[in-house]
Amino acid sequence: MPIIDCVAVTKRYANGQLALDAVDLAIDKGEIFALLGPNGAGKTTLIGVICGTVSMTSGAVRVAGADIQRDFRAARYRIGLVPQEIALDIFATVRGTVSFSRRLFGRPPDPAFLERLLRDLSLWEKRDSRIIELSGGMKRRVMIAKALAHEPEVLFLDEPTAGVDVNLRRDMWALVRRLREGGVTVILTTHYIEEAEEMADRVGVIDNGRILLIEDKAQLMRKL
Ligand code: ADP
Ligand code: ADP
Repeated sequence: MPIIDCVAVTKRYANGQLALDAVDLAIDKGEIFALLGPNGAGKTTLIGVICGTVSMTSGAVRVAGADIQRDFRAARYRIGLVPQEIALDIFATVRGTVSFSRRLFGRPPDPAFLERLLRDLSLWEKRDSRIIELSGGMKRRVMIAKALAHEPEVLFLDEPTAGVDVNLRRDMWALVRRLREGGVTVILTTHYIEEAEEMADRVGVIDNGRILLIEDKAQLMRKL
């Protein structure tokens, strides 16, 4: 059973814009999957629909078997979402931000897990700093820590390296690999083909709300 299963997912926004047009997509546990497409292709909308933050017009999405529309809580619990925009309480501390996020999902505190997570993201030294004191790169790391705080099985990264410097980009790639070693399924969006190639096991090319092709890395590289 795929961990993410989208069947005929269609999204038409209130203004009439068709953002997703009957998308079928199955993603297996432990995969790193990249959604590659130009601006406006429908990548963010697709992530939103799978995570239940954007209502779909028709179709169905299952996350580990749980229907996102009928069983939102069970499905959402398995997902960590890192949106494009940084959205953090600037007066909260790093540790407080991450702990709060874990608590929202009803998971008991686990100091050892929290320490490992913050160390993995090079945030441990900053654990008692307030968000307002952090650099942009650090804030992005906090967004990731926040999304992983409840130990989800699937992590969504929306344009994780857009506007990010080379060092942080490398760190992101390393992080994605480590997550995979830990058994986490990673789905990311990008409009850089090199990034899709570098990070993903499979790449889905999306444009105008349609998945045009899905290929594994070897197939994609042969075509380039
Ligand atoms: P939903 O159908 O998921 O409730 P809406 O269609 O109501 O979403 O859109 C949410 C808001 O985003 C609306 O206020 C809409 O005007 C605004 N919006 C419109 N066009 C765009 C766009 N191209 N990108 C981002 N937001 C947009
Ligand atoms: P991408 O993430 O690939 O850049 P999006 O999913 O953000 O693409 O957008 C897909 C299409 O839907 C675009 O045409 C965009 O303008 C439109 N769109 C996105 N959000 C909204 C919204 N809230 N209301 C209306 N149209 C939207």
